[in-house]
Amino acid sequence: MAEEAENKESVDFIRAKIMADNASMRFGGKVHTRFPPEPNGYLHLGHAKSICLNFGIAKEFNGLCNLRFDDTNPTKEDVEYVDSIKEDVRWLGGNWEDREFYASNYFEQLYQYAEELIRRGKAYVDDLSADQIREYRGTLTEPGKESPCRNRSVEENLDLFRRMRAGEFKDGEKVLRAKIDMASPNMTMRDPTLYRIRHASHHRTGDAWCIYPLYDYTHPLSDSIEGITHSLCTVEFINNREFYNWILEALDVYHPEQTEFARLNLTHTILSKRKLIQLVQTKTVRGWDDPRMPTLCALRRRGVPPEALHDFCARIGIAKSESVVDYGLLEFCMREYLNAHTARWMAVLNPVKVIIDNYPEDGSDVFDMPLYPDDASFGSRKVSFSRELYIERDDFRMDPPSKFHRLAPGKEVRLRYAYLVTCTHVDLNEDGSVKTIHCTYDPASRGGTSPDGRKVKGTLHWVDARTAIPAKARLYEHLFAMDNPNDVPEGKTFLDMVNPDSFKETDIFIEKELGSLPVGQTVQFERVGYFCKDKDSTDACPVFNRTCTLKDSWAKIEKQKAK
Ligand code: ATP
Ligand code: MG
Repeated sequence: MAEEAENKESVDFIRAKIMADNASMRFGGKVHTRFPPEPNGYLHLGHAKSICLNFGIAKEFNGLCNLRFDDTNPTKEDVEYVDSIKEDVRWLGGNWEDREFYASNYFEQLYQYAEELIRRGKAYVDDLSADQIREYRGTLTEPGKESPCRNRSVEENLDLFRRMRAGEFKDGEKVLRAKIDMASPNMTMRDPTLYRIRHASHHRTGDAWCIYPLYDYTHPLSDSIEGITHSLCTVEFINNREFYNWILEALDVYHPEQTEFARLNLTHTILSKRKLIQLVQTKTVRGWDDPRMPTLCALRRRGVPPEALHDFCARIGIAKSESVVDYGLLEFCMREYLNAHTARWMAVLNPVKVIIDNYPEDGSDVFDMPLYPDDASFGSRKVSFSRELYIERDDFRMDPPSKFHRLAPGKEVRLRYAYLVTCTHVDLNEDGSVKTIHCTYDPASRGGTSPDGRKVKGTLHWVDARTAIPAKARLYEHLFAMDNPNDVPEGKTFLDMVNPDSFKETDIFIEKELGSLPVGQTVQFERVGYFCKDKDSTDACPVFNRTCTLKDSWAKIEKQKAK
């Protein structure tokens, strides 16, 4: 009993509803969902939430999930988007098998349904212009006005609708509307438009059609045609539910159930295809897959594993009311996964040269370093060491503060897995900056262990100057520095809010073997962060995107909250 109560609590309201439906055999115990993107842009993190929900539920309940392209708008859609959407859904583990559907496949059937509505006296052809329709619609406080065309006979409506299809009218000259209630308190029920005339080619149906069904009409009927049981959509469709039910009842066809859940909102992030496309078109970013974008292809390019997105979606859960999720939670999920699943390597991002003066001029060492320090069974790599090395500029201070456990004149540190070294002196550049750091090493400390038990606190990463290869690191910050980029001061647009420091490219040195890492692989640069080899890499110069830093700000935030 207690266990049952516990299970119920851990289940969100949609899963609870499905369990209840299954118990009552409402849909014969069947669960069939769909993910219905419009192919007018690339998928983003908000879509990931919907993908995890729809495909996740299908899996959990032994059901099915369809991929359906809601392609009713011929002018904004493109095969480029269809292909990218399939790639992204697949990447997230969504498996639609052979159920790849297009609303445009149903155009003929939807047309026949529309004629049936006319025959049932539930739809009419209207001559009002778009502006007039808006005017006649009324407001939230005032009822609308009926169109003079509203009471046309069935014969006249059928004739006009067929002529609309035949291309006898120009764009905007006529529309087909549902005949419901111009005084309904729900504005979407005030005779919504079902079909409009658009003399435009469609990316799949070509010039076969010059009338196109609207989303609100197409969606419930597509769900019905496909035998969907649970049609899950975001809360902005709550007012459309009444029409969803109306149309299925008016035609007396199989009736799935629409349920709304809260959209994902994320700090520092814009999740609207309409706005994301502007970032691309204005070249504010370098494309849909610019690693600063919240698109799935950008996250993939940045090195974010799909498992981190699954974890993220599971943690944010499903609720009815909207909230804003802290971006730090997403980074926390990335680190959780990457920490356990990436190999360790060394790279120096802001190099300064170190010379070990007592190390033989032509000498060298090769150290065997574990790829996963916690589990040697995953193997190791060979790392060479010589008299000249690079370390991070930040790991050295001329005048160190008291708790600085890194390198400074007279101080001893450990070079990771190699030797203990002590700084003797430095050479300066003309501007006073450090040019070269001189050290001596303790030959008895091979492997980085203290030979006599003396305490050496600091451990630095390094690369061998003789064998390291130059590379580039691309460092990203939030594309929008402020928490809510939708909150734009007057006279500005969201494009003005872009963080000018969100992208920085820097010359780095990496272990030699990293040069042959495959594109798309993410590794940990010890003490620096997680990095993914980018497709812009060349043989001469590998390029790495920083996926995220090692610092976990989320755990800190949680700790502060708990205080
Ligand atoms: P956008 O507002 O970015 O244009 P959309 O809702 O118009 O998104 P669609 O292609 O119609 O994009 O969305 C496909 C599915 O993804 C829909 O079921 C939609 O509800 C869901 N979806 C879109 N954005 C989010 C989000 N931020 N959170 C959760 N689900 C979302
Ligand atoms: Mg949409």
